[in-house]
Amino acid sequence: MVSEHLFFLVKNKICSYCADRYLGESNVNVKSKILIDKSKKCYFCLSAFSMLDKLVDEAIVKINRYEAKTFSVSSKLPRKSIFREEEFISRFNIYPRVNLKSALNNESARKIVEKTGLKNNQSKFDVKVLFDYEKGKVKVEGVSLFIKGRYLKLKRGVSQSEGYRYRLRNTGEKPGYSLEELIRKPLIRLTMAAKAKFHGMGREDIDVRMLGNGRPFVIELIDPKRRFIDLKEAELLVNSNGKGKVKVIGFDFSSKSEVQMLKALSPKMKKTYLAKVQIKHEIKEEDLKKLEDEFRNRIIHQRTPLRVLGRRPDRVRIKKVYELNAKKISGEEIRLIIKCDGGLYIKELISGDEGRTSPSVGGVLGLKAICRELDVIHVSDPGLFGGESHG
Ligand SMILES: [Zn+2]
Repeated sequence: MVSEHLFFLVKNKICSYCADRYLGESNVNVKSKILIDKSKKCYFCLSAFSMLDKLVDEAIVKINRYEAKTFSVSSKLPRKSIFREEEFISRFNIYPRVNLKSALNNESARKIVEKTGLKNNQSKFDVKVLFDYEKGKVKVEGVSLFIKGRYLKLKRGVSQSEGYRYRLRNTGEKPGYSLEELIRKPLIRLTMAAKAKFHGMGREDIDVRMLGNGRPFVIELIDPKRRFIDLKEAELLVNSNGKGKVKVIGFDFSSKSEVQMLKALSPKMKKTYLAKVQIKHEIKEEDLKKLEDEFRNRIIHQRTPLRVLGRRPDRVRIKKVYELNAKKISGEEIRLIIKCDGGLYIKELISGDEGRTSPSVGGVLGLKAICRELDVIHVSDPGLFGGESHG
């Protein structure tokens, strides 16, 4: 007695791989009746299995361009294939030993392992191999390589992002080089990546230096051909490229989840600034004392500064200054060391920004105060990015 599902298969014909999936070792007699001849397409896989060897060979040529120890495979199948298998299962209540997609993945992975000696690991891998059985194509991609570190910006006039650089160009001002570029380019060259994304923990203005322990960042190198790199060498390359402008420290391998953490931590970091401030008036010691007292653990209400209003929504930020230290440099010039929440605009904390920041240094003194030079001298984070945790 031959059951209904076998009649169906005799009528529709399938390939030997799919016959194995449904019938296993048994039923040699039936098998001979349901196998397609080479010119026809398998009812289930639409002959994906017959193109597998060719696609695996193509994949290996591409994989060989990458430094890799592990790989994953995935498959895209024609909708019709998936639909037919599901329909067959529900109609006859007959299940294959392994479903079509897994069978293709297992078989292609087995062949790649056999021919390259790489390990197949579907959850942690260096390259991913994507088989498209609908189009008869295969794509190989290097998994993004994440590197974290901290940067110091040693020179004023270096903008963080290229967006800013292009804005300068559009306004006809002299374009600079961006900090992102100075860090990214040597790393793209070293890893032979297609491109890179820079994620900084906040940013500083173009005319502000970033000194001290540096600002945390993560760089994502997309589709890298090389990944087993020496991070000390990477650091040296970036530092020789950024000579006198940018310096990086504390390189370590990172991950996508740390990029999320970096973004989440960004508003929580605390920063310490060094500001040179011009006051158009003779400064007395008691003025300095007054500033230090007024800005000890002081809440600041800051409306979006006028100078960034076009680019940022107008809203009030509530930030805190923890400590302010004031010292006289000359008759009309003072030096401030300000420890505060990240995201507080310091130039406006000093000037008052026409009353939009309150209290302000100028406001407390009742004088016009202008920030002439600004450096970030410390950025704290909870220790994830190589800097010590700091109050
Ligand atoms: Zn098949």
